[in-house]
Amino acid sequence: MSVLPIRIASLPKAELHVHLEGSLQPATVAKLAGRHGAEVREEEVRRRYAFRDFAEFIETFKWVTSFLREPADYAVVVRDFAEALHVQHVVYAEVTLSVGVMQLRGQDPQANFEAMLEAAEEFEAKGLRLRWVWDAVRQFGVEAAMAVVEAAGQCRSPKIVAFGIGGDERSIPAREFRAVYGRAADLGMHRLIHAGEVGGPENIREAIEHLHAERIGHGIAAVRDPALMDLLVERQIPLEVCPASNIGTGALDVQLGVTGAKIEQHPLPKLFRHGIPIVLSTDDPTMFHTTLTGEYENAWRMGLNKVELERLVEMSFTHAFR
Ligand SMILES: [Zn+2]
Repeated sequence: MSVLPIRIASLPKAELHVHLEGSLQPATVAKLAGRHGAEVREEEVRRRYAFRDFAEFIETFKWVTSFLREPADYAVVVRDFAEALHVQHVVYAEVTLSVGVMQLRGQDPQANFEAMLEAAEEFEAKGLRLRWVWDAVRQFGVEAAMAVVEAAGQCRSPKIVAFGIGGDERSIPAREFRAVYGRAADLGMHRLIHAGEVGGPENIREAIEHLHAERIGHGIAAVRDPALMDLLVERQIPLEVCPASNIGTGALDVQLGVTGAKIEQHPLPKLFRHGIPIVLSTDDPTMFHTTLTGEYENAWRMGLNKVELERLVEMSFTHAFR
């Protein structure tokens, strides 16, 4: 295997699908736990970051967020996160924030967010701009999702660029969130959703038709539906493709109907060469032991050439909500 062209690693890049809570270094998790009187060793975090399927991944995500309790915790996390992006020449990121989880835990999202914005300021000065996606958890239901939208509205920060829904796409059909997305649009937010990750292509179609989703989180199930692939090309709706995540959660196995799928079997090249806009992303980089540069290496291993990789770098800027 040849090495990723150096130029790609050093190019300024944008990252559009990355969860703050999925980006904590093991040392940071241990530090946060310590702040709250729990003793967690880094080895334990590493062990928990080695999950085998989507259900275990969700459990790990919940465990990690249980140590995010007050605004100062979020400030610590943002500093670590921003530093990791900065060293990879990421100059712009749309960061997904699990506001649904904050509300479930009785926290004040606005107070957390203010601490985060303050922590991000020093990185803005270094040339890294962070924008935010306020995210609801699908299985928490429609009312809880609406509460996330309303909280974002009350915050009135121009740095909140979009509303999204993550979590288990098999729990509640997308169409039930129509009013929630209508409200998000009225408040000037862009519309995102995770779909076609572990669910079928019909979930992507539903997100487009009923929610007017502007980018699809993952969306790799599209490869199973040629008419949907054409629709994504026609409307130029990007898929936020996160290869290492698809291996880690077993989503790639699900979509391909195999076990132990390899990165080389990922449908990214097929989707990309069909003309669907792709924004290459990390999803939960520390949990999936990846980085944005690592994802470009993954795409290179899938057979994309240097020009195609450069095109991918460009696309993340073209499809950003800046
Ligand atoms: Zn995600």
